Amino acid sequence: MASIVRLFVNAPLDRGQGITLTDQAHYLANVMRLGAGDVIHVFNGRDGEWAARIDAASRKRVELTVEAQTKPLQMPPDLWLLFAPIKKARTDFIVEKAAEMGAARICPVQTDFTNSERIRQDRLQAHAIEAAEQCGGTYVPEVTKLQKLGKLLDDWPADRQLMFCDERMVGQSPALPENGGPWAILIGPEGGFSDTERKRLHALPYAHAVSLGPRILRADTAAVAALTVWQQQLGDW
Ligand code: SAM
Repeated sequence: MASIVRLFVNAPLDRGQGITLTDQAHYLANVMRLGAGDVIHVFNGRDGEWAARIDAASRKRVELTVEAQTKPLQMPPDLWLLFAPIKKARTDFIVEKAAEMGAARICPVQTDFTNSERIRQDRLQAHAIEAAEQCGGTYVPEVTKLQKLGKLLDDWPADRQLMFCDERMVGQSPALPENGGPWAILIGPEGGFSDTERKRLHALPYAHAVSLGPRILRADTAAVAALTVWQQQLGDW
């Protein structure tokens, strides 16, 4: 049996709620060939996942009625992923994997050696939504606008620990403290961190410099590795 289509929708979800889809109508009616009477699953990142029956479908418009909840909202751990954007496809990969692996917020940061000065926040947010649709998640991490790392550290919340992935720590293996509160992971750009950034980060009481093994990883690999290590030790895996 074909798996049920899952879609992110912006509407509130509750029993009997009517929803009109326009952007996803072509996909549902023409690509997936769904029509009146078929059931899909919908989620909005707030109200869990619901079964919704198609009342009418055309290539421009699909009308749905929400029927029953199929999954409650499952929040990820309070983990932010801070990363310096790299090439487009690799940045897309980082956002997709962070959403699948359970980051609560995805924060592109501009560091001293960041290659790209701009990101398409809306496009990256769409990737996070698609990843949540694919992986069965009921929560969608927010992708924030590009922020300067220095400014983010100036305003850092006092109770949030930072797993600082420092390529200079290669060969050392300091463990993360068993702190169950809010956390963030920081991954640098292709060029790594500048000496000024490294000095500041090492002096922060909430920052824990870690190695991701004996080899230097590409930034996209490092993001996945760091999320895995954190989730295994402190997260919801
Ligand atoms: N250009 C840098 C160099 O040659 O030392 C390497 C930067 S690496 C491609 C990009 C980022 O991934 C680093 O800034 C760091 O955050 C993370 N990273 C990669 N390998 C790592 C490792 N073995 N330990 C800790 N962090 C690592």
